[in-house]
Amino acid sequence: MAQSASGSALLGEEIVRRIEALAEISETPDQLTRIFLTPQHRAAADLLSQWMSEAGMAAHLDAIGNVCGRYEGERPGLPCLMLGSHYDTVRDAGKWDGPLGLITAIACVADLSRRSLRLPFAVEVTGFADEEGVRYASTLLGSRAVAGTFDESVFSVKDQAGVAMRDALRQFGLDPDRIGAAARSRRELLAYVELHIEQGPVLEGLRLPVGVVTAIAGATRLSVSLAGMAGHAGTVPMALRRDALTGAAECIVEIEEFFRTDPDGLVGTVGIIHAAPGASNVIPGLVSFTIDIRAPTDSHRKLAVADIVRRIENIAKRRRLAPQIDVTHENRSAPCAPWLRRQLSRAVAAEGIRAFELPSGAGHDGMAMIDIADVGMLFVRCRGGVSHHPDEHVDIADADAGARVLLRLIEDFVPEVDEK
Ligand SMILES: [Zn+2]
Repeated sequence: MAQSASGSALLGEEIVRRIEALAEISETPDQLTRIFLTPQHRAAADLLSQWMSEAGMAAHLDAIGNVCGRYEGERPGLPCLMLGSHYDTVRDAGKWDGPLGLITAIACVADLSRRSLRLPFAVEVTGFADEEGVRYASTLLGSRAVAGTFDESVFSVKDQAGVAMRDALRQFGLDPDRIGAAARSRRELLAYVELHIEQGPVLEGLRLPVGVVTAIAGATRLSVSLAGMAGHAGTVPMALRRDALTGAAECIVEIEEFFRTDPDGLVGTVGIIHAAPGASNVIPGLVSFTIDIRAPTDSHRKLAVADIVRRIENIAKRRRLAPQIDVTHENRSAPCAPWLRRQLSRAVAAEGIRAFELPSGAGHDGMAMIDIADVGMLFVRCRGGVSHHPDEHVDIADADAGARVLLRLIEDFVPEVDEK
């Protein structure tokens, strides 16, 4: 077992200082907003590459605006263990979602560099330019470019101000025609490992600073509409009504009950509902609502979707409503590689922390990276499970614990071939 040189809370202190410094780079001074290909995004990229250089890495910006740092191994040109996370934010964001993983990875490499420690593989840190998808409503743009699965039709998509992505890339100083140069090959990567805040309350409930991720959940979004019959709220007797809204209400309660009783990490949410015609004295004749369904395995999610559809159809039939159910979005799950889970759990235990595994309900860059590398993820506890909100917070001790685990993982890392 390699001996970590840090030992104290030094890594945590440096990480938190840099989290604060990066959070200063924002469109609006009192609300953290750092959107893809804006001047603030560029300033953040420059600061990150400066930190990478100081950590002993060769740093450059790739064709989509990812900040890429490379720390060579025992000899130049070896395949790498890639670490990373994203440096774009949502609007009025927290400081930790994305930057924690990136800044922690840089701190770990800086620690290796201070000790002049070279490993039998290279370590790369990638700051993905766009994970949240705020500007062009298309997520994981940075990691998709690296994975070689970037959809070039997105270039002509315009933001709210009417600026096409192609032009925004040029203004940023990048050449959209060279997007293919950002792609990496499977041969170059031994694994992709990301540290990220949990964005949920599970670790806090268990009083654990970190947890090992089993899988990034896949998601299905359904759009459901129920058609009944609008009518006068005073004249149509209750028994003769075909009220689409009470039908939807029954469906929603049934959906909640269905997910609440699932033991395997299935979650479902009705987030939007519209009732028409929408008057206080008219029986609702048409209601539409959305369902977001997520599960750690695709088979479990697909069974759940089929079951939910059947239940909605039964309720609709009994209430004489006409249902229309469409899949509007589908994302497969990204299972974390068992061999990386094992090595992460070992690193957690070696730092004196109980190794605990949990699924990720939120999406991450690993969903794209899985196309070219095995993926591992480490979650760090965040206060109250709050994320995508200015109240997002990680304790310095937890930032330090995450860094110590990641550093130990790097130093003890054994590529899969030797593990079998
Ligand atoms: Zn994130």
